Amino acid sequence: MKCEDIVQYLSDYVDGDLPVEILEEAEKHLASCPNCTTTVKTLRETINLYKKSCKTCITPEHKSNLLAAIQESARHHCA
Ligand SMILES: [Zn+2]
Repeated sequence: MKCEDIVQYLSDYVDGDLPVEILEEAEKHLASCPNCTTTVKTLRETINLYKKSCKTCITPEHKSNLLAAIQESARHHCA
């Protein structure tokens, strides 16, 4: 798995929605790639912040904006 694959799976990874076989590949990559580890951490922390500040939860629209921004910065990391 490459950085661009991680970026693609990021949302499902953070939500815990990845199929086991993809999850294993993703974790293998994360173990060897500090950039992607940071990206995942940033996304998780940001989502947690949103959840704390809003009792209902993050809206899908919010989340896709957020994800787009993080994917954009991840692409720069990995370029
Ligand atoms: Zn990576």
